[in-house]
Order: sequence, then C-alpha cells, then structure tokens
Amino acid sequence: MNPFEAKPKIEDEFLAYTFEYMSMANRRGLKLSDELARTDMRMSQESLGKNTIGICRWSPLGTLKVRIYGPWWNGAGEEQRRTLVFHELNHCLCMRSHNHRGGDYAHDAPVYDVGKGYLGDMCPASIMHPIMIPTQCLRTHQEHYDEEALESCRD
Ligand SMILES: [Zn+2]
Repeated sequence: MNPFEAKPKIEDEFLAYTFEYMSMANRRGLKLSDELARTDMRMSQESLGKNTIGICRWSPLGTLKVRIYGPWWNGAGEEQRRTLVFHELNHCLCMRSHNHRGGDYAHDAPVYDVGKGYLGDMCPASIMHPIMIPTQCLRTHQEHYDEEALESCRD
C-alpha cells in the first residue's frame, strides 16, 4: 500500500453487497481478499461521465477505486444497487470487461436483441452488460446472473 494514498475504505452503503459478492466468490473457490483489501469504494455526488453510474479504476499506486454515482443510487432499487456493486467488483477484482459467455458487448451502443449476449426474452445475459439491466430482468434471472457473475474471474 502506498503511504501517499488514503487507506482504502468501502463505505457502509456497499458493505452488505460486497460481503455477499465475496461469499459467492468463496463458494467458487476464488480468493479475492487481497484485491478487496485494496478496494476503495465510495459514493460520488459529482458526475462520473455522461450516463455513467459507476466506475472502477486501477490506480497506478495499487488501489482499486470504485466510485458510485450518488444521485443514481438514491433513486435505484435493491436489485439494481446490488447489480451495480457486483458489476464494479467484477471489473476491479476479477478484471472482467463488458463481456458475456462467448463475446464482448458493444461498448457504447449495445443492441438489445435475442442472441449473442441476450437471453430469450431480450434480457442481457450478463451483469457485465454496459447499461444497467432492467429490474424485471434482474428479478426473473437472478439465479442465472449470480451463476454467471464470477465466471472468467482473473482468467
Ligand atoms: Zn462496466
């Protein structure tokens, strides 16, 4: 840990989701505790970029910085909050990009369709979809999303 960086912290709002994510990782035999110890996850009231609700940055000094956009969080439901935390942890701890079984999502303009990266009802097939998944999809496919979430972690 670099002495010039503030001690990494995961703010209270994100703790329950983070523990749930870590226990899912443990059940898959993934050891992510070193990465978690370097994770700094905080709410940002300032814009993170156009249409951006969360980011993960690997600081050159070793910290994994996650920022969540506060105004979005305040209006979001339980399922979407959980999904955003899992999504950012997948970026930061697992080095997963915006991908799904068998390919990458188009980065800025994903096309909702049945087929590659989407399920039969057009719900995204992975929480690594670059745009937040509709709540109804998260409810319908939670088991699938949880199962898929930690695939390709640090492969
Ligand atoms: Zn992302």
